Amino acid sequence: MSDQGILAVVSGFSGAGKGTLMKALLEKHHNYALSISATTREPREGERDGREYFFVTREKFEEMIREGELIEHAQYVNNYYGTPRQYVFQQMADGRDVILEIEIQGALKIKERFPEALLIFVMPPSADELKRRLVGRGTESMEVIDRRMRRAAEEAAGITSYDYILINDTLDACVEEMHQLIQTQHKKVSQNLDFIEQMQSELKAM
Ligand code: ADP
Ligand code: 5GP
Repeated sequence: MSDQGILAVVSGFSGAGKGTLMKALLEKHHNYALSISATTREPREGERDGREYFFVTREKFEEMIREGELIEHAQYVNNYYGTPRQYVFQQMADGRDVILEIEIQGALKIKERFPEALLIFVMPPSADELKRRLVGRGTESMEVIDRRMRRAAEEAAGITSYDYILINDTLDACVEEMHQLIQTQHKKVSQNLDFIEQMQSELKAM
């Protein structure tokens, strides 16, 4: 069997429940590593530097881009977000399945650079429910919520570039579906080339 971890990208409209899902997935199943992104946005209440994000200035972020420290980056509603390279590769090499919770432009860049990456798009059961969740979360002003809803309408056009959609209706069911989806990737032929090669040469030698 291959020792290399899976690279999974999880996207979805703001408020679809990605953060909630990730937390539940990591609590329930081990062997996942959630990449921590760098961002120029302000921390929300309760967020801690180095836990939810590395909160950096615009200058620092631009330096990280120049130094090649990010495997992808994108602008989202006036802020930069990007994935630090080193952690992702280290965790995958150690055999952990790495999840990038990133928006669509970044996801497409990852697919370009790493065609074996698994792209999952998390959907709310309906647009009304999406707005209810954003309002219910209570972390953004109505103005920002409206911008995020407009952004969702734009992002919806890109869903067909993903490999799978998951509907986050009942949280626990969605967590299990995501786990199954990622674990199934381990069975792909392309994920097991070393084992296949070994079997081929063993058979030849018999
Ligand atoms: P995202 O990370 O995608 O922006 P969050 O995880 O912050 O979304 O979830 C947005 C809001 O929706 C939160 O208040 C969260 O508690 C709620 N939520 C998440 N998943 C569900 C679900 N399956 N059913 C009902 N509410 C949910
Ligand atoms: P939020 O401000 O709600 O935490 O995140 C806003 C959006 O940025 C979400 O869609 C989230 O998935 C995305 N995002 C978070 N980190 C990254 C990243 O490293 N790269 C990209 N491209 N998007 C990210």
